[in-house]
Amino acid sequence: MDKKEIMDLCVQSCLDGMKNHEGGPFGSAIVKDGKVIAVAHNTVIGTNDPTAHGEINAIREACKKLNTFDLSGCELYTTSEPCPMCMSAIIWANISKVYYACTVQDARDIGFRDEHILNFLQNDCKDKKILDLEAVDKSEAMKAFEFWTKDNSRTNY
Ligand SMILES: [Zn+2]
Repeated sequence: MDKKEIMDLCVQSCLDGMKNHEGGPFGSAIVKDGKVIAVAHNTVIGTNDPTAHGEINAIREACKKLNTFDLSGCELYTTSEPCPMCMSAIIWANISKVYYACTVQDARDIGFRDEHILNFLQNDCKDKKILDLEAVDKSEAMKAFEFWTKDNSRTNY
């Protein structure tokens, strides 16, 4: 399959999702060695899950199919430039190539806005009007960190 055919799968997936009132106009696919591993679309509305963006759903499906949390060597196709959450998830998944069609500006033009998230991140997470991020006592939580570092059977990721 070429890039256009794979992107067409993403578009068809999100069209199906919108017809079923599952979510917005966002579809994604994950490809490894030229083979489509997963195709998914936004299901925020249908699942009442604000994290169920197309990219996240595709990552979850690909990880389940490949039985791994590491998607190194995979490429992600998506109908629209990833939001900050998905960008982070893609990097966490070790995907190093993304092909996108519509831009952040195109998404803004139809009412999907993530610039307040980008602004928050670019301003060192200090804008309390967007998110009040407050550090509390860490002594108990540090015990979990100590457990992790001492556990020789752990799986690093
Ligand atoms: Zn997203």
